[in-house]
Amino acid sequence: MAELKGMTGKIARVDLTSGTVKVIEPEEAIYKKFLGGSALGLYFLIKEGIADPKVDPLGPDNMFQVMIGPITGAGPNSRSVTITKSAYNFISIATSGGQASAELKYAGWDGIQVVGKAAKPVYIAIVDDKIEIRDAAHVWGMGAEEAEMILKGEVNSEVETREGMLRAADLTPEWGALRPPKGLGTGQKRLAQVWVIGPGGENQVWYASVMTEAGRAHGRYGPGAIMGSKNLKAIVVRGTKGHPLADKKRFLELADAIQMDELTNYSRKKYGTSSAGTRSAYVEDAYPIRNWQWGSWSDPNVKAMAGPFMDATSYIRKQSCPGCTSNCLFPVQITSEDPLLDGHASDMPDWEAMGMVGGNLGYFEMPGTTPEDPFTGTHIDQAENLAKLQYTTYIHDDAGIDFIEGGNLLALLMELRQRNLITVDDLDGIDLKWGDVHAVDAMVKKIVNRDGIGDVLATGTYNTAKHFAEVKGKPEILKYSMTFHRYGQPAHDVRSPADKNALEYVTVSRPCEHTGGGGAGFKKGDWAAAIAGQNNKSAGSDSLSVCSFSAGNYAGKVADMLKAATGWTDFTEEDVVKVGARQYAMSRLFDIHTQQLTDPLEQWDKLYPPRWFNDPLPNGNNKGAIAYEGDPDKLFTEALPAYWKERGWTEDKGIPTLETLKDLEIDDIVGDIAKQHL
Ligand code: SF4
Repeated sequence: MAELKGMTGKIARVDLTSGTVKVIEPEEAIYKKFLGGSALGLYFLIKEGIADPKVDPLGPDNMFQVMIGPITGAGPNSRSVTITKSAYNFISIATSGGQASAELKYAGWDGIQVVGKAAKPVYIAIVDDKIEIRDAAHVWGMGAEEAEMILKGEVNSEVETREGMLRAADLTPEWGALRPPKGLGTGQKRLAQVWVIGPGGENQVWYASVMTEAGRAHGRYGPGAIMGSKNLKAIVVRGTKGHPLADKKRFLELADAIQMDELTNYSRKKYGTSSAGTRSAYVEDAYPIRNWQWGSWSDPNVKAMAGPFMDATSYIRKQSCPGCTSNCLFPVQITSEDPLLDGHASDMPDWEAMGMVGGNLGYFEMPGTTPEDPFTGTHIDQAENLAKLQYTTYIHDDAGIDFIEGGNLLALLMELRQRNLITVDDLDGIDLKWGDVHAVDAMVKKIVNRDGIGDVLATGTYNTAKHFAEVKGKPEILKYSMTFHRYGQPAHDVRSPADKNALEYVTVSRPCEHTGGGGAGFKKGDWAAAIAGQNNKSAGSDSLSVCSFSAGNYAGKVADMLKAATGWTDFTEEDVVKVGARQYAMSRLFDIHTQQLTDPLEQWDKLYPPRWFNDPLPNGNNKGAIAYEGDPDKLFTEALPAYWKERGWTEDKGIPTLETLKDLEIDDIVGDIAKQHL
């Protein structure tokens, strides 16, 4: 095959059952149609029959993929994308920042696909063209960060192993203790990058993440559980080949313009997304407090939620993804009077953490107060509350589980206890009360180890609500499951008119995704604009494999970046949008087919949290607000069919028509699946 630019033209398929590696070389036309990342991964899942309902998500026939895109590497804001069938039996697409994405390109691969199941724990070691399956017994059971640190030292290119390149002085004492005996010449510089699971993934917690750089996560929809089901602890990659570009000068000009634009976002650069939480909690009334019983803090002294307060109390450094000038990852050192919390290194509390394992669990509250009551504490009290949030983030990250889904689950249990719908005995003696970080710690350990009731909780929020509704004979318990499409709602409310329109969560291609794009169109009821925004986001971020925070900086430049990277001189912005439309059609059909839905509207699209329509916001600027005036019919019988029609999908079931698939040039890929469900 002719040498490609931008992409490497090679995907490694590792079969853990047979211990073999096959090189897949997609035609250039396939790259043009799907780019990379999410759309290319979906293409392979469907092509290899993973959408078949007979493929058990946790069985050896499922395929786990980590994919990148044509500009990943030299391009700004590089991310990697995991794509697989989730344990929930719907599509799992999760993106993460971190250096590993670029390293994979430098090693000469556009993606790694893993099939089969190893007989014992293993990791995949990649150094350029060389791929080995290695024993992982020594890191199995370890937290994600510790395992990553060790594995980084075990995979080296020839460059690092040359004696002349060794620099012991580069090592901290902790890293030095891990180095092999002098003279072996390995493990000194630790330049490899790692995707790794924690004990949550090993024990197949359904919402287990794939972690990298300790605080970066392919967090949503449980890709870590699929790695765990294959006995795969990690993929470690070291590349030395660089990134082949068609027009390097033009590419770097465009990259420079994107980076300069990024520098103007002072707030994100200085405080990440943490400052946004203040806006969410005080202005938009869309911040989760006590399982979304409230959405707004009435007291402006809740300083710990503001970026500058966190900066002053705990940030220790700032980190960026490849080519990004925003540096939005802020590792922190927890300081607390509480020995359980004190001293741990944690991820920054970003907007999602601040909500889902912050306010949602009743942190940031003084004893006896509610969001309606006056704040009586001091900054020291709030620093302690911040420590609780940071610790809860840390235990989720280190175990390798999604803190958005985890926060929903813990908050559900707390509300069920608040309403006496379950007992302490139902939770194996752990009394989960609002704000109690010790109870949270104990319960997370049970979930990660699948111990006792933890085995049920490990299947997620919705299944837990269903379990208790059945065993307690109390169907009303399901009312408190803040899940859509059976997965936890992130820290954005659909009741506040200042935040999301509920249709955004209903239609986004991954259950309840909060960065799906098209927000302005949804708010205006302009479905064409909403769809264009969604298509742009899924193509221009998830398939291109770049960060969605940089979408504004990339606006109008995606096709030009692709041209400069690949040499596809005829590629246009319309072609980019079409990639997104393909992803939407394929993921919709994947979900319908793998679950064998005969009536997707009733069986799938109406799995909404009743609170959206039943419980108006109780306080704040938007007091009384509710989704679709409290009438689900307005959403499901008016807005949703109109949206589906605009996409060229059927109005009754939301299935892409054969004409639409032909138009998108994917009728040969998903036409047969569509015919079975139309
Ligand atoms: S904005 Fe943050 S997550 Fe996005 S590329 Fe930059 S550092 Fe990574």
